[in-house]
Amino acid sequence: MPQYYIWTIGCQMNKAESERLGSYLEQLGFQAVASAEQADLIVLNSCVVRQSAESRVINKLSALRSLKRSRPSLTLAVTGCLVNSHLDQLKQQFPHVDYYFEPGDCPQWLGEAQLWPVIPQHAAPSVFVPIIRGCNNFCAYCIVPYRRGQERSRPVAELLGEVSELVRRGAREVTLLGQNVDSYGHDLPDKPDLADLLTELNTIRGLARIRFLTNHPKDMTLKLVDAIAALDRLCEHISLPLQAGNNDILKVMGRGYTVERYRELINQIRRKIPGVALSTDIIVGFPSETEEQFEETVNVLAELRFDTVHVAAYSPRPGTIAAREFEDDVPPAEKQRRRDRVEQLQEGIATEINNRLIGRTVEVLVEGKKEGKWQGRTRTGKIVFYSDGGDHLGQLVQIRIQKASPWSLQGSVASNNKD
Ligand code: SAM
Ligand code: SF4
Repeated sequence: MPQYYIWTIGCQMNKAESERLGSYLEQLGFQAVASAEQADLIVLNSCVVRQSAESRVINKLSALRSLKRSRPSLTLAVTGCLVNSHLDQLKQQFPHVDYYFEPGDCPQWLGEAQLWPVIPQHAAPSVFVPIIRGCNNFCAYCIVPYRRGQERSRPVAELLGEVSELVRRGAREVTLLGQNVDSYGHDLPDKPDLADLLTELNTIRGLARIRFLTNHPKDMTLKLVDAIAALDRLCEHISLPLQAGNNDILKVMGRGYTVERYRELINQIRRKIPGVALSTDIIVGFPSETEEQFEETVNVLAELRFDTVHVAAYSPRPGTIAAREFEDDVPPAEKQRRRDRVEQLQEGIATEINNRLIGRTVEVLVEGKKEGKWQGRTRTGKIVFYSDGGDHLGQLVQIRIQKASPWSLQGSVASNNKD
């Protein structure tokens, strides 16, 4: 049996595509192995959203050069956002790579299947389901639209069938994925929107939870907020990237909303969805960002108090509007300082938010074991660890929280209450 190994970095979309590629390879008779050294086929699923990720990909590719030299029969393929239209340059730079294929596509030398509808025989308790590919937004800093192309939504009926099948194969929770899930459906014949899709998925028996990411503040509608509030499987967990807390920076980023509009949206979400957990993304050190403008971002974060903040230092990406038109004028040390400041602030906020859960009982979907403890998530997306005998995998368990940190919670089974 030929053996395969997939190395993945980057976003959840990459993880979802790697999972599906693995399932497809297994259907073709390949077997997964734990290390690249054992594999007959190695696939690198790459990310280039920041220079740091791209450098890791390049290092990995360079390290595989000697493996390929010692075993020429090894097949090496690269997918993900490193793959661009200048294939000649890539082939020149990495002559030891046999194949390149675009993110979400199927490796053509293996067949013509559509990777998206390929689902695993045995689904994990929590699975990713891509609902829309590509992005039409072209935020000034972002390389994704150049590498993943125009938005293409998957039809509601196809997704309904797929999620039902995933549930039949063991899934209890799905996370719907798209670079901008709020533009789901605009390219489909009868123009369903995300709220319509969620309403349909909410009827699937055996499906306990539905999540989705990422929202775009310029496109998220009140209809969607109402749907989340009304549908029982929809988790109280929303990812809504702010990126910056200053209107001039948001404008040059090309985000299409103001801080005021963002704040109003958050207030509406909190009014309509009690107990909602919110996460956001921030870029610090965008070209021309002054100390005062950065402080405005800090103030907005302190005011809105997110459960989670993903903060990144601006990294110029070739071909993007920002890389072409703006000077990367915030020095690396200053970017680092701004990042540290946001992380420090957020650590305090997350500690306070999570500490409030101590003594409370929460529903946890058990996803696996880590260092001897069961690990799962609350409906609000918080990671929970607890110890208990028996097999809890894939079950919804009520856990009484005893300890909290900014990043996770610990507790014990509340009573004999597994579903
Ligand atoms: N579509 C989502 C959105 O609208 O925010 C996120 C997609 S993006 C691939 C994931 C995150 O990477 C972004 O939220 C942004 O904070 C970060 N990011 C993207 N390009 C970046 C860049 N050039 N430098 C630093 N961070 C970047
Ligand atoms: Fe990138 Fe903006 Fe599209 Fe998100 S919405 S993927 S940040 S271009």
